[in-house]
Amino acid sequence: MTSHVAFFNFPAFGHLNPTLGVVAELVRRGHRVSCTTTDRFAPAIEAVGAEPVRYTSVFGEYYTNPFTPEAISGEGLRTLEEATSLAAQVEGFYGENRPDVILHDFMAWGARFYAAQHDIPLVRLFPSYGFNEHFSIQAKFPMAEMTDPKVMEMIAKLEGMLPELGFPGKTAMEFLMEPAGLGIIFLPRDFHYDGDTFDERFVFAGPCLGDRSAFQGTWRPESEDRPVLYLSLGTAATGWPEFFHTSLEAFGGSDWQVLLSVGDTLDPAELGTLPGNFDVRRSFPQLDVLKRASLFVTHGGMNSVMESLYNGVPMIVIPQMSEQRANGMRVDELGFGRLLPREDFTAESLRKSVEEVAADQAVAERTKDMGRRMREVDGPALAADAVEEYLAARRTD
Ligand code: UDP
Repeated sequence: MTSHVAFFNFPAFGHLNPTLGVVAELVRRGHRVSCTTTDRFAPAIEAVGAEPVRYTSVFGEYYTNPFTPEAISGEGLRTLEEATSLAAQVEGFYGENRPDVILHDFMAWGARFYAAQHDIPLVRLFPSYGFNEHFSIQAKFPMAEMTDPKVMEMIAKLEGMLPELGFPGKTAMEFLMEPAGLGIIFLPRDFHYDGDTFDERFVFAGPCLGDRSAFQGTWRPESEDRPVLYLSLGTAATGWPEFFHTSLEAFGGSDWQVLLSVGDTLDPAELGTLPGNFDVRRSFPQLDVLKRASLFVTHGGMNSVMESLYNGVPMIVIPQMSEQRANGMRVDELGFGRLLPREDFTAESLRKSVEEVAADQAVAERTKDMGRRMREVDGPALAADAVEEYLAARRTD
C-alpha cells in the first residue's frame, strides 16, 4: 500500500542532506513524497523525485551570516517563529493533500504543531544526535545557558502557545524533551554517545547518502598520483576567513592536491594568486571528493563527519561550535583522526596534525574498517522499512 509521506524540513543543508537518501527510497517504493522547502533547497528535493512544498523561512540569511554568541542564543526564538510560520504557510497545501505520515527534522517543531492539530502520525529525524529519557547532547555538552534571557524568552513563549497548538497541560521542557514514537538517527549506533540507551523506538540508519550529482555536479581528481587533501568549514558561515588564508600558507607548494571549499561568504578571488596545487571553490560535490581524499580537515559538522567515515577518510576536526566540538572529541576518542582546537590553530599546527594523522596506519585502518561497516548498512531501506511498519501498525490500531 502506498502513502503520502510528507517531510517537514529545517532550512540548512546539514539538516536536509541526510534525508535525501530516504526520500529517494520512498519514491522508489511508489509513495507520494512531498517536502517543505525554501527556494534554496528545492532543486535538491526535485532531484530525488519529491514534490517541493515551498514556504518562506524566517531564518533568511541566518545560516549564511557569521555566527555570533548573540545569534546563537537567539536561535531558539527563531526556531519557534519558524515553526509557527511553517505550519501556517503549508496549511493550504496539506489541507488539500493530507499526508498519511509526517517525517520531520527534530528542529522543525512546526510539524509537531501541524500534526497535533490534524492527528497525523509523526516520525522524527535526527541529522545529528538523537535524544531519549537518558541522553541528550545538550545535557552532555551544554550549548546555551538555560538562564540566557533569549532562551528563557523562547521557553516562556512556547509554553504560552502550547495549549492552542494541541499540547494542553505540557510544559515547554516536556514538549522539547518528549521522545518520538519513531526516531530515525542518521548515525551508526557505535558513533553515537551512549548509543545503547536508545531502544526499539529508534533506528540507526547511518548517513543515508543519495546521489547529489543532479544538483551539485560531479568531481574527478586532476591527477591520480598526488594525494588529495580536502578542507571545508561546511555550509553555514563561520566568519573565519583566516582559516582559508592559513590553509594556503600551510599547504601551498606541498605534495598535496588541495581542495579548499570556502562556502558562500568568501569570494575565492579574495585569496589572491593561488599556489598551483590548490583548487578553491565555494562548494565541491563533497561525496565525490571524499571517495578520493586521503584526509579531510573539517569543522566537524555531523554530515561531514559521517560522510568522511562512510568513505573511510580520517579527519582533523577544527570545531566552531559546541556540537562540532562534541563530534571532534568523538572522532578523536574513537581513533578516526584528531581534534585540533581553534585556539591552537596555526599553519604550523595544521601542517603537523595533517602529516601525523596521514602517516598513522592505525587511524587509517580503523577509519577504513568503520567505512566498510557503514557501507554494509542500507540506511535508506532501513529507514523506509521502519516508516512503513510504523504506518501499518497505526492503521491497524
Ligand atoms: N557540502 C558540500 N560541499 C561543500 C561543503 C559542504 O556538498 O563544499 C555538504 C556536505 O557534504 C554536507 C553538508 O554540506 O552534507 C554540510 O553539513 P555539515 O553537517 O557537515 O555542516 P554544516 O554545513 O551544517 O555546518
